Amino acid sequence: MSSIPTSFPASTVLGYPRIGPRRELKRALESYWSGRSTRADLDRTGAGLREQTWRQLAELGLAGLPSNTFSLYDHVLDTAVLLGAVPARYRDAPDPYFAMARGTDGLAPLRMTKWFDTNYHYLVPEIDADTVFKLDASKPLGEVREARALGFETRPVVVGPVTFLLLGSALDRLDEVLGCYEELLGALAAEGVAWVQLDEPALVGDRTAEELAAVRVAYERLGAVAERPGLFVSSSFGELGESLPVLAGTPVEAIGLDLVRGSVPVADLGGLGGKIVVAGVVSGRDVWRTSPERALAALGALRASQVVVSTSCSLLHVPYSLADEAELEAGLRGRLAFAEEKVAEVVALAEARLRGTAEHGGASPGPVEHAGVLLDHDEHEPSVALLPEPVPVEERSPYPVRAAAQAGHLRLPPLPTTTIGSFPQTGELRAARAAVASGALSQADYERRVEAEIERVIRVQERLGLDVLVHGEPERNDMVQYFAEHLDGFAVTRNGWVQSYGSRCTRPPILHGDVSRPAPITVRWATYAQSLTTQPVKGMLTGPVTIVAWSFVRDDLPLRDVVFQVADAIREEVRDLEAAGTSIIQVDEPALRELLPLRRAAQADYLEWAVAAYRRATSGAGDRTQIHTHLCYSDADQILAAIDGLDADVTTIESARSGARILGAVSAFGRGLGPGVYDIHSPRVPSADEVEALLGRALGALPVERVWVNPDCGLKTRTYEEVEASLANVVTATRRLRSTL
Ligand code: GLN
Ligand code: ZN
Repeated sequence: MSSIPTSFPASTVLGYPRIGPRRELKRALESYWSGRSTRADLDRTGAGLREQTWRQLAELGLAGLPSNTFSLYDHVLDTAVLLGAVPARYRDAPDPYFAMARGTDGLAPLRMTKWFDTNYHYLVPEIDADTVFKLDASKPLGEVREARALGFETRPVVVGPVTFLLLGSALDRLDEVLGCYEELLGALAAEGVAWVQLDEPALVGDRTAEELAAVRVAYERLGAVAERPGLFVSSSFGELGESLPVLAGTPVEAIGLDLVRGSVPVADLGGLGGKIVVAGVVSGRDVWRTSPERALAALGALRASQVVVSTSCSLLHVPYSLADEAELEAGLRGRLAFAEEKVAEVVALAEARLRGTAEHGGASPGPVEHAGVLLDHDEHEPSVALLPEPVPVEERSPYPVRAAAQAGHLRLPPLPTTTIGSFPQTGELRAARAAVASGALSQADYERRVEAEIERVIRVQERLGLDVLVHGEPERNDMVQYFAEHLDGFAVTRNGWVQSYGSRCTRPPILHGDVSRPAPITVRWATYAQSLTTQPVKGMLTGPVTIVAWSFVRDDLPLRDVVFQVADAIREEVRDLEAAGTSIIQVDEPALRELLPLRRAAQADYLEWAVAAYRRATSGAGDRTQIHTHLCYSDADQILAAIDGLDADVTTIESARSGARILGAVSAFGRGLGPGVYDIHSPRVPSADEVEALLGRALGALPVERVWVNPDCGLKTRTYEEVEASLANVVTATRRLRSTL
């Protein structure tokens, strides 16, 4: 055990973005998948990005460089491969890794879901009786060697055994998996690696006694490996709580704490004082500059054998650099830090602390001096006027009253057919938007193209015989960014891309000030669409929780207050749509589940204000106006009471995949329901028989007056050919069933 180091580099980050500052990895992946380049080309791009990252972190002065934070698709998938958890059906595919990630003809990919409370999606490890765990350490070892060849010693980062197994719902396989981790530690020690980072974010959630026992077993066993690197167990996205004393009681040398969301542990918990604490004082979840006072106070209050300055989680969740954002208003820009700037903050805090330790004997934070990297407290706090409590708003009439008013007004047939909002987004439209941005196309010409697209979408739906039409959302680049661009209090970035999954990135807007709506946003397009047809056309809005969930949000106000401000802006839009003659308005809330706090104790409060915000956004509508909501693929069954509480007249949910289970659960709602009749993720066209079978299942669980017929989600990722064929079968199936009523 003589090889275990006694000190840790003074500054580090838990991980770094990997898609490339110019989304180089996205392009390389798409080119490889389409057969335009080879696997060797892709690997060259990956190696180039890794080199660029190590060089940059070193240049910024960071002491501890991580490796194995790069991934060609997903770090959880990488861990599954590391441990040999590759389901048999993928092994003969030409490229098993991407077969698991994306599927092949005839082979569905692994299930994908959200990483804790972030908007990053990982592939769920599939662990069953056939899984034979077997270590393949080529990726972490390869990255250690690759960095070393460039002159950098690195700390490989791997998802820890407890989190990995909890994600795969297979904690009973701990014994086998630990065998692989023991072997991994031996291999890293043989390679001369000083420290390994095992990420255990699952430990910040509520854990049962049995799960805590697993934590103890895991780290006792890994600690007992004779030849191994130092063990650094990191946590993220909250406070370790009851996991902390358990972890502190094991032989691990270093423990990482999220000190942005969590606070400094008060007592010397079961030996924490003898450990190295890697202190996450720079947030990896937001884009704000760090308050040096707050960070240095936390660092100074920690009792540990060594305190290392770090980030609260991987910087994967923030964009690369502010250097690309010259167009941001200077006052705002000065308050921001992306990944590169956050690394500079970590380094500056470590230096300030070193100086403070020298001058103050380590007891209190030292003077905050720095070459412009850290801010004074006054500069950091945006000046906000105290917000008045939101004025109470009137609730809508009870559902039976609304339902009667709507039925008389809308006169829809039984089993009304509709879609979720978007129609295929064509390359021409995206190109036209880019052309407007660059000045090559005039706004008026662009608007004519959007109108032409709306007309096409209306005519397609009329031809298919749908009952409630949509305008197709051709004017929207994204369901959140579009609203952010039209509301005050938001800024949008030029290059602020963040990985969502695989090659997919989003560019979250920055909500930095009080939100208000200077002018109507969607009314122009809604009225144009309605002017083309006598069928009702749904107005289409994004809900307040989702707009906030998919943005970077100011941290000087409680999240609830921010969501209420957005709700009031949406409320005005609902009113204006109604005044312009829109009789059905859909307000989507697909991120309702995503913001649910990880700890159960905090969930009820969140759900209460999230539901209140939605009702605030929608309750300005009169009884005759029908409010729809769409919850998407959002593990709806975990928040059923809240979805019911939204009190929407019609709720559309995914059900083609989750099936009978969800139908049983939502049948108690007592209002309109549109369980999706086909999965829009696949290019496959469902037959009329299939749709009829799914509808029959819905009619078995719900009274016919309440059932709506619609796909699982919006159609923007599909082609017109697929959409028209699929919807034609949906209409056929519906008509067959109607004729039997
Ligand atoms: N109205 C949106 C659309 O159809 C809903 C998207 C979503 O649920 N994520 O595209
Ligand atoms: Zn959806």
